[in-house]
Amino acid sequence: MTAGEVLIKEDFCLGCGYCAEFCPTKSIAISPERFNSQGHLLAEFIHPETCNACGICAWMCPHFAIEVYKVQGG
Ligand code: SF4
Ligand code: SF4
Repeated sequence: MTAGEVLIKEDFCLGCGYCAEFCPTKSIAISPERFNSQGHLLAEFIHPETCNACGICAWMCPHFAIEVYKVQGG
């Protein structure tokens, strides 16, 4: 089964929440308490075990803050 590794470039994140909203496996969430240097709440990859590397989060991100890599899952 294909699993995903998601890299979030935190200084690019606008905290808009699109990645979390559209992730079909709810693997990403907006942090309730972590901000980046511009003062935006940060998206966090909270459930790597459920990510399927679909790439939707990266497509939805308006600021190119996400990179998705396919890894071999169990
Ligand atoms: S690659 Fe797909 S499953 Fe993984 S975090 Fe992004 S939207 Fe969610
Ligand atoms: S879609 Fe991009 S800019 Fe918006 S919260 Fe997610 S990572 Fe941040």
